[in-house]
Amino acid sequence: MPATSHRCYDAVVVGARPAGAATGMLLARAGLRVLIVDRSQYGADTMSTHALMRAGVLQLARWGLLDRLITAGTPPVRHATFYVGSDRTTIPIKPANGVDALYAPRRTILDPILADAAADAGAEIHHGVTVKGLQYDSSGRVTGVIGHDRSGRPVAARARITVGADGMGSRVAHWVGAPTDHMGVAAGAVAYGYWPGLPTDGYEWYFRPGAAAGAIPTNHGLTCVFAATTRDRFRRDLTRDPATGFRHLLAAAAPELAGRLADASPAGPLRRFPGRPGHLRRAAGPGWALVGDAGYYKDPSPPTASPTRCATPNCSPAPSPPRSQVTTATRQPHFPATRPLATVSRSRCSGSPTPSPPTPGTPCKSAHC
Ligand SMILES: Cc1cc2nc3c(=O)[nH]c(=O)nc-3n(C[C@H](O)[C@H](O)[C@H](O)COP(=O)(O)OP(=O)(O)OC[C@H]3O[C@@H](n4cnc5c(N)ncnc54)[C@H](O)[C@@H]3O)c2cc1C
Repeated sequence: MPATSHRCYDAVVVGARPAGAATGMLLARAGLRVLIVDRSQYGADTMSTHALMRAGVLQLARWGLLDRLITAGTPPVRHATFYVGSDRTTIPIKPANGVDALYAPRRTILDPILADAAADAGAEIHHGVTVKGLQYDSSGRVTGVIGHDRSGRPVAARARITVGADGMGSRVAHWVGAPTDHMGVAAGAVAYGYWPGLPTDGYEWYFRPGAAAGAIPTNHGLTCVFAATTRDRFRRDLTRDPATGFRHLLAAAAPELAGRLADASPAGPLRRFPGRPGHLRRAAGPGWALVGDAGYYKDPSPPTASPTRCATPNCSPAPSPPRSQVTTATRQPHFPATRPLATVSRSRCSGSPTPSPPTPGTPCKSAHC
């Protein structure tokens, strides 16, 4: 990314994973001039157990991206089976709205698909750029970002709106002082790994008091198996000897699944997430907005997850709003604080009535640039 402070965009998005890439893609498709930056490498892995529910798959289908996921060899999931104590219930995925299966793509596959779609839509996207702070005008309105590229060279960009899509520990939220409107009281901890050659019948979810587990078929013939518990138990049992602690926890949550894995080893080390309470931050202010986990993070762990989290495989989001109202990415609820982004898409940075392909580096005539 050229180190210039003269560039101006309608929107600069910090973070190029699901929330940032999807938001940038939608804004670019609406004709806005968009810059997306991320400090990570293109295609780098990140923490996730990958299971997309119907809402996420439906969004990918609406955006014309589901075929790319399928072409990448992501296996279809046609059933979800819930084991609650000794009860077992299998729910087939109901074909509706062009979605007849769920998918659990590796993030090394999903995130580049979204980043590529943003670039295809005309967004300028740069990995290896770390944002270190924001720019402000004399009224205190956010007018852009400053940071550096991989070689340490300073970079800066100005925009009418700066979007923090920088994850649960959002620095953008911190810099703008976004208040936390709601804070979760519990946090579940998760450990997971990838097992080759483990046959599963779609998603498998297991729930027992204080412990939960799941099996999620993903790419490359691997099944992601997770075990989740309270933070206290996680600290006690999965810190010193994670492999043994994981097997004990899996046996407590899902004895049948643990039995199937008794003689198998995971491909690579276990990954561990120690848990973090959920938050709902104020998601917009003068010149800034938050999307994805930056604004709204829900504890993903079944033992403590909010009852509002929908694990039901056939739940759908509301129909797509008009493009001018599209505010955010796959997991953000429609709450009023996100609406100001819509005003940006109605009055573009260039002032041109007809969206034209963005020209990188073109000076902007907006009062905020
Ligand atoms: C253990 C675990 C399991 C999960 N399992 C599932 C699951 O099965 N299904 C599901 O749907 N969700 C799951 N999630 C949730 C899911 O991973 C997140 O909701 C999702 O990644 C959020 O996307 P995002 O784009 O908001 O943020 P992130 O994916 O966190 O991306 C934020 C990006 O911002 C970049 N960034 C941060 N700060 C800066 C900066 N200063 N400058 C430049 N770039 C910056 C980071 O490099 C990162 O790439 C899980 C989460 C965890 C922790």
